[in-house]
Amino acid sequence: MKNNKTSKWYNTLLWYASYCKGKMILSIVLSISGVLLSLIPFYAIYKIIEKVIANSITLEFGLKYCIIAAVSYILSSVFKSISTGLSHVSAYTILEKLRLSVIDKFNRAPLGYVSGKSIGEIKNMVVDRIDNLEMPIAHVIPEFSGNFVLPIVVFVILMIIDYRMALASLVTVPLTIIPFSFLTKGFNEKYAKYIKSGNDVSSAIVEYVEGIEVIKAFSKSQSAYKKYSDAIEGFRSFALDWLKSTWLAVKLSFAIFPSTLLGTLPLGILLYIKGAITPSELCLCLMLSMGMMGSLANIEIFMNDLRKMRYTVEETTEFLDMEELPEKQTEVIFNNYNIEFEDVSFSYEQDNEQKAVNNISFSMNQDRFSALIGPSGSGKSTIAKLIARFWDIDSGKITIGGNDIKEIPLKQLSQIVSFVTQDNFLFNCSLMENIRLGNINATDEEVIKASKVAMCHEFIEKLDNGYDTTAGEAGAKLSGGEKQRIAIARMILKDAPIVLLDEASAFTDPENEHKIQQSIKALTKDKTLICIAHRLSTVSHADNIVVLDEGSIENQGKHKELLETCELYKNMWLAHIGAKKRSIVRGEVLTDV
Ligand code: ADP
Repeated sequence: MKNNKTSKWYNTLLWYASYCKGKMILSIVLSISGVLLSLIPFYAIYKIIEKVIANSITLEFGLKYCIIAAVSYILSSVFKSISTGLSHVSAYTILEKLRLSVIDKFNRAPLGYVSGKSIGEIKNMVVDRIDNLEMPIAHVIPEFSGNFVLPIVVFVILMIIDYRMALASLVTVPLTIIPFSFLTKGFNEKYAKYIKSGNDVSSAIVEYVEGIEVIKAFSKSQSAYKKYSDAIEGFRSFALDWLKSTWLAVKLSFAIFPSTLLGTLPLGILLYIKGAITPSELCLCLMLSMGMMGSLANIEIFMNDLRKMRYTVEETTEFLDMEELPEKQTEVIFNNYNIEFEDVSFSYEQDNEQKAVNNISFSMNQDRFSALIGPSGSGKSTIAKLIARFWDIDSGKITIGGNDIKEIPLKQLSQIVSFVTQDNFLFNCSLMENIRLGNINATDEEVIKASKVAMCHEFIEKLDNGYDTTAGEAGAKLSGGEKQRIAIARMILKDAPIVLLDEASAFTDPENEHKIQQSIKALTKDKTLICIAHRLSTVSHADNIVVLDEGSIENQGKHKELLETCELYKNMWLAHIGAKKRSIVRGEVLTDV
């Protein structure tokens, strides 16, 4: 969906409202008509009182005005109900379109931005915050317009009857302006804090539940629970402080504002005594002025809802306006899939001196197995993500087959790169469909063949529903290594010419690790294979090993050369061998060195 870029929140809202313009206009018209119709019973009462006072009321006359009052009341209720119904339909349409835009934006935003967000934050943005709009759009827009028109019409009628009564009906306005302005002072900042506090609670809950296994395994329940309870406590104390600071002003303003009788009753009696108005006019003025302020009080409430709506739309607009990666549309023709880094530098924060990748140059050629190794935080995953263009680099150039990756349309890039990351996300559909995501045209037989190569066929077959087991059902039963093998089967099925394996064997048990490495190697023949591995043994047979340290290349070459020339590699290798020996002493099965 196209997004109309604008920085003004109401323009964004109007743009989305254009999807249901007709319904919204009809809703407003019906709401105003309903409000105007609701005035007719007052007029009927006025006419009846007039006749009663003149002692000339007849049954026929009384019945006629009772019917007029009843019909207008019924019509008013029907109009208002239809108006609210239409505004709800409009609200849900706007919510749907906004959510689709946000999801679409997640699709087009730099992948790094999306993968850097927690599930809690994403849920907040797509579900909770946008939900905040339902109430204001569904109620405020029609009711606000009705409640806005009513006092104006009533004021005009009062002016026609007696301008002094009209002015007297406004007596509570100056009395409430002072507490009301106190109430609204700094509302935007406070509301922003309120939302942030609520989001903190949401994120803490999601994090707590997601990490419950780690929390229990490492006996961190107390500290994790403290983080969660601190967030709740922070929310409670902020909300209570805010309530306390505004409570008196709110109560005063709501008590005084609708009390129009303070002005109209004494003045009305005075005017009646002086003979300036009739008793029936006095009754009508008193009734109308009371109804008028009720509407104005509603406007006061709606103003707060409008501010809430503004805050949410502003925040969503800011996200929708976020700069996207510039993208070319014309597909590129590849003669080969060699990857070249030329003086590439990149840092995650724009103004950060600390580069995650610093002036690096290397080649990773097709039909060769390249490996990236280095201590934790040395920039291995960042390099893999830069190849998949999760982010754009700060300086230098990355090319694939001689083409700058900025010239390759993102869709084409995603088709030529298979990326098995550390998080092997499984959708909650069957395992068959999860694997088929690699190639939606693959037959069941092809899925099973890929699973066999990735060594996941055996354990999938053992599940109660085999390949039809949903990832949700299987979730608790699958180990990290098994999930990873499903991701590898998906990658095998995709058959992309460039394969990035980030820590792909980290969870795999040593017994299967060797077999998986062999299958990947066979399958990635003619491909550009880049592997980041914890265990140096899995990459020791690589054609080229790039050793990284603190974002720079320490050295590169084959295993044997590096053992002689690169101190860091030698130390990592010795540490790795030491760990293996310790494993053997513990009796673990090892098939590879
Ligand atoms: P490795 O894969 O070698 O462990 P990474 O490429 O993940 O290292 O990280 C390189 C550096 O970039 C580290 O200093 C890390 O803290 C930093 N880094 C990684 N991801 C992010 C991110 N999303 N935002 C900010 N800094 C990051």
